[in-house]
Amino acid sequence: MIGVVVVSHSPQLARSAVDLALEMVHGVSPRISIAAGVYDGSTGTDATQIAASIAEVASPDGVLVLVDLGSAVLSAGLALELIDLPGVEVRVTSAPFVEGLMAGLVRAAAGSSLDEVEREARDSLESKRSQLGDPADAPPEAPTEGELTLDLRLRNPSGLHIRPASMIVLALTPLDATVTIANLRTGSGPRLANSPTKLLTLAAQKGDIVRVSASGTQAREALDTVRGMVADGFGELEQATEPPASGPSRGGPIGVSPGRAVGPVVRMPEPLESPHGGAPLPGPDRSGAADRIDAASSAVAQSLRARASSVSGEPRAVLEAAATLADDPSTISEARAAVLERGESPEVAVWSTFERLAEDFASQGGRIRERVADLHDIRNRVVAQLLGREIPGVPARTEPFVLVARDLAPADTALLDPAVCVAIITREGGPNSHTAILSRSLGLPALVSVDDALDLANGTIVLVDGTAGTLTVDPTEAQISEVRAQAVAVVEFDGVGHTSDDHRVQLLANVGSPASVAGAISAAAEGVGLFRTEFLFLDRSEAPSVDEQASAYAEVFAAFPGKRVIVRTLDAGADKPLAFVTQAKETNPALGVRGYRTTWRRPELLEDQLAAIALAESAHRAKVEVMAPMIDTPDEAADFASRCAAHGLSMVGVMIETPAAAITAQEIFASVDFVSLGTNDLAQYTMAADRESADLALLGDPWQPAVLRMMRLAFDAGAAAGKPVSVCGEAASDPMLAAVLVGLGASSLSMSPRALGHVSQLLRGVTFDECRDAAADALDASTPQGARTAAASALRIGS
Ligand code: PEP
Ligand code: MG
Repeated sequence: MIGVVVVSHSPQLARSAVDLALEMVHGVSPRISIAAGVYDGSTGTDATQIAASIAEVASPDGVLVLVDLGSAVLSAGLALELIDLPGVEVRVTSAPFVEGLMAGLVRAAAGSSLDEVEREARDSLESKRSQLGDPADAPPEAPTEGELTLDLRLRNPSGLHIRPASMIVLALTPLDATVTIANLRTGSGPRLANSPTKLLTLAAQKGDIVRVSASGTQAREALDTVRGMVADGFGELEQATEPPASGPSRGGPIGVSPGRAVGPVVRMPEPLESPHGGAPLPGPDRSGAADRIDAASSAVAQSLRARASSVSGEPRAVLEAAATLADDPSTISEARAAVLERGESPEVAVWSTFERLAEDFASQGGRIRERVADLHDIRNRVVAQLLGREIPGVPARTEPFVLVARDLAPADTALLDPAVCVAIITREGGPNSHTAILSRSLGLPALVSVDDALDLANGTIVLVDGTAGTLTVDPTEAQISEVRAQAVAVVEFDGVGHTSDDHRVQLLANVGSPASVAGAISAAAEGVGLFRTEFLFLDRSEAPSVDEQASAYAEVFAAFPGKRVIVRTLDAGADKPLAFVTQAKETNPALGVRGYRTTWRRPELLEDQLAAIALAESAHRAKVEVMAPMIDTPDEAADFASRCAAHGLSMVGVMIETPAAAITAQEIFASVDFVSLGTNDLAQYTMAADRESADLALLGDPWQPAVLRMMRLAFDAGAAAGKPVSVCGEAASDPMLAAVLVGLGASSLSMSPRALGHVSQLLRGVTFDECRDAAADALDASTPQGARTAAASALRIGS
């Protein structure tokens, strides 16, 4: 029996057409494979997918390929070039999609030859035509008297496929012009440009010259319209020349987690591709297939739980959360239903169920959206389990290695054992990516955005310098011994931050709850530079009472007797939504009522919090300071300061997180004692790049010249006012950037406790003047990489 491949721009269309056709053959069917949609689930056809489908159903009797639209013929043709199936005749037919599939399937099921099946499929429109009394094929349109003509070369990669054809028809419809188009290469046409399907019959490809002829009062405008669209490549030129989602330039490598390490490369397996849909499973097979989903999901969940129990802290929490996603009963039952009701294969059902869930998560934004990467990771694990493939993820090794990956999912990063994985290199990602944050928390040197990362072969020895942001392939023996000698020395902080010439810089910790205080104390932090108070408000339907808040704050104050603790008031909204504070549906939450703005509607939240802070302060000896998030204007700063004064809170500051606040920092200083730069948000708002978006991570880099110069405004204002400027965003955790910030005038830096040792170590190796030079040179640079290189050279790093 021949095999049948159904090629469609739309997976739903293909599945429905196959379902309909299968109703005609009552259980006996040739092997059918669907190749529909492109890799990310969007509309289109993909030659590699078609080639795989052909290989899947290949038979010595031949393979018939049906396509839904003429533009799929190009992909099908390319697929034929990709496959090598000796003795198998593969034929792409012009038969109509639905009728041809039905008629062809019936003949194929009867065991007819490829010729017979194709003829049947091609003739399948006859009945509809004769019932409707259609004339035979339309003759080419005859040229009209006095028409204008124009020859144009098609520039877009896929030529006159369905989208450009429809664009032409729609653009010409309002014009008083009769337009025809002919393909001069093939001699087909002219065809009237009032029908996309007629234009598709021209089979015009990239590079073909098409003759556009127009008559009527607006003939000239019609030709200009088509000329414009062709010149613009129908808006498809950019897509064709730029790799997806990589931005104008990666600008890497970017060091995102400090330290140096050397070791052999171990490549992480490439992620799985979306499985191909085949013919629907026969009814009797469906229940067993659905049960395989339960088994695979629970195997994945079990293995994640086993690994969770072998680690602790954040990695454990990440793995436990991933395991819950893997055996979530509602996801499993949705995937089972796809198998039982539609006959999807288990792997296709799992893939599409997780895809739908991921879309749902992505559309909700904020923290929920961050979980999309976890969903994709779990999906891949379950599908690999179903297909009997190697489970994607970090390869198990016992000897030290440098992990090289396209990108790392949170569950991968959480599994890294810093005793064997000594450094990380990824091709994707930016300074705020998950890889960056977790590698910092594990203390592993890491480079992201390394263009040729995937060219590094397994076993190649590399030296990763996460501080300088450099990668050395095949380092010398001397370099290797130097790094190994350094690695033995643990980078610890002794509790006093300063440069080599004793310029004092307080090194403080960021804490997010009383529970996270222990890490700050054991890392010898000089105090707390950012106490994020949102933890108390999460998962609540109303704010905690003043007393409850006061005792939580008191726990933190008690841990730092005589030391600074800067409490930040509630920063609800955008990436930190709180059910009872944040509006449910804001079109653009990052630009919405968040941070200090929530006080406009709910002043009592701030008043209660200030009362609680004052109460807790009175009982402890910490030097309590208070600051407000997301201040935009001098008026807001003044309002905050007067509310604090009313509660007897004497050291008051605000965060500089928006360009507006940076630009007006001088006026803001008139009412506050200090400012602290929230560089995560400052980068987001300066660069107009969502801090949650992995695609925009390189724009959100705090080394971006615009971000550095925005920071300088605040430092200059602080110097003019004679008041301190601190930094508490992630930028302060990057040792080299920390030196630049010191050079710009930072009096204290607040960071994740793990970063304290690295930042202190770097500062102790440089003078204050070198920090100033590094700042001046970095601020002159025109790219983030240029700024890093300039700073490294001024600080003598990596030389
Ligand atoms: C910042 O934006 O840099 C910051 C420290 O605040 P958060 O990350 O909590 O928004
Ligand atoms: Mg912020």
